[in-house]
Amino acid sequence: MWIDTHGHLDAAEFEPDRAAVHLRARAAGVSTCVIPAVESANFDTVRLLAHAQQDAYALGIHPLYTPQATEAHLAQLDATLHAHRDDPRLVAVGEIGLDGFVPALNTADALAKQQQFYKAQLLLAQQHQLPVILHVRRSADLLLKGLRDTPVMGGIAHAFNGSLQQAQAFIALGFKLGFGGALTYERALQLRRLATELPLSAIVLETDAPDIPPHWLYTTAEQRASGLPQGRNEPAELPRIAQVLAELRGIPLDELAAVTSANARTALPRLQ
Ligand code: ZN
Repeated sequence: MWIDTHGHLDAAEFEPDRAAVHLRARAAGVSTCVIPAVESANFDTVRLLAHAQQDAYALGIHPLYTPQATEAHLAQLDATLHAHRDDPRLVAVGEIGLDGFVPALNTADALAKQQQFYKAQLLLAQQHQLPVILHVRRSADLLLKGLRDTPVMGGIAHAFNGSLQQAQAFIALGFKLGFGGALTYERALQLRRLATELPLSAIVLETDAPDIPPHWLYTTAEQRASGLPQGRNEPAELPRIAQVLAELRGIPLDELAAVTSANARTALPRLQ
């Protein structure tokens, strides 16, 4: 059995066939998907979807949604975490973090606001005794600094693509590192080396559905120009993505399934 530790199954891309996506995930052996919220407007949606599909969810404000976020949204997050504190399917505060890639979010003002929401949500994770699911994009060092200032019980650095040294710093703070479709690209040499060198105990798997399609779903700019849509990732792809990692590490697929599922439960204890 597999655990997809990160899938935005509430996304509009799944509107036409969400039930079929769910059935394909179960048929592929993916027993649980963690559905992270991105803004207060989808807190109810991810919670209800996780219950309807017997998945799990996280509540948080994603860094890409901080420009429009307000103090009232943080208060709403606090209240929602409190209201559902006994919900076993609520497994983390997330998706939170910092994005150092999108130019509009990296002006002095926008970065300060990202930092304000990151810090405030780490404090909420502390208070509610929940792990966090982190968005890490050219922001690993700033995220690590935030975790040292405001320690939490751990969690997952999702779609990790930093250095071995940064990975080790996250591990030292009680985090697992999320790997997914990006591993399937033969040219992703640094990422593949990292996923091979890290201790297996540090790795969890994810699709980030509908994003980060594996290479077999990827369409080039040229193909898209001629009308082919970008491939949509989904939880059922997880075992095939994992097969790539199992081959890179030279271990059996069932061992990878067992260890990464146990790792996910360590990172997000309510998945037990
Ligand atoms: Zn995400």
